Amino acid sequence: MDYGMIGKIEKAKRYAEEPDRFQFDEFSITFRGDNNNHQIRFDQGKWQCDCDFFHLRGVCCHSMALERILEHMLTVPSPV
Ligand SMILES: [Zn+2]
Repeated sequence: MDYGMIGKIEKAKRYAEEPDRFQFDEFSITFRGDNNNHQIRFDQGKWQCDCDFFHLRGVCCHSMALERILEHMLTVPSPV
């Protein structure tokens, strides 16, 4: 392996321990539910989920779970 690549791998290891350097702008994700799957989207700080609860409340267990998983990697206004 060349010298340049070794340096990059070292840097990658360091960055991987500093997740708050990374910020998701958008993504879509499939949640495997016990009964149904759900489609969750995140776009510039806004959530979208296809579950019934989200349609009523604008937040749901799926979006809240992802907020916990991704913690510092999202800029999301806290739910009211
Ligand atoms: Zn949901």
